[in-house]
Amino acid sequence: MFADCPLCNARQSVEVTTKTEKIPYFGEIMESTMLCRECGYKHADTICIDQKEPVKYTLIVSKDNLNARVVKSQSTTITIPEIGLKVEPGPQSQGYVSNVEGVLNRFEKAVKTALSWSEEDHVKQNAVRILEDIEKVKNGQKEVTLVMEDPFGHSIVMDDTAVRSELTVEEIKNLKTGFATFENEELEINDDD
Ligand SMILES: [Zn+2]
Repeated sequence: MFADCPLCNARQSVEVTTKTEKIPYFGEIMESTMLCRECGYKHADTICIDQKEPVKYTLIVSKDNLNARVVKSQSTTITIPEIGLKVEPGPQSQGYVSNVEGVLNRFEKAVKTALSWSEEDHVKQNAVRILEDIEKVKNGQKEVTLVMEDPFGHSIVMDDTAVRSELTVEEIKNLKTGFATFENEELEINDDD
């Protein structure tokens, strides 16, 4: 399948390859890879095919559940309030399958990138503090809450201590969806019933 490139706008220059995989207790997910032969734009994504109810997961992260499996869809907002971290979906958001530690590692990488780019002292200090906190969480020295909110209900935290709840209408309104790429329109997971 070919599509127009969202980056260089070349027509039918992006080759899209997809692969589906069934995940126990979760459903079918589709991994898609896009590659533009004109500009080299590349984007990989994991999305769930089944339509689900909006969902919110709350997990108290401890040393015991760092290995808990996490499926994070591209429409998910992840928050760790104790550290002041929040990642909202954008057009480049990617879905992925990982575990709690993997989520923390991604946060760590993002903060390190921000730290290397920033020239403002208070931003740097804040980033350093966040990195120290993440390290403590990974060592089991600090307990934090991992909140995952997904208006499309595709995300999941697989742990006995994870609390699954429904998102309120108000909460959904405040969430960004991150859906901007064509493959979602194609699957119509943008549309409400
Ligand atoms: Zn391109």
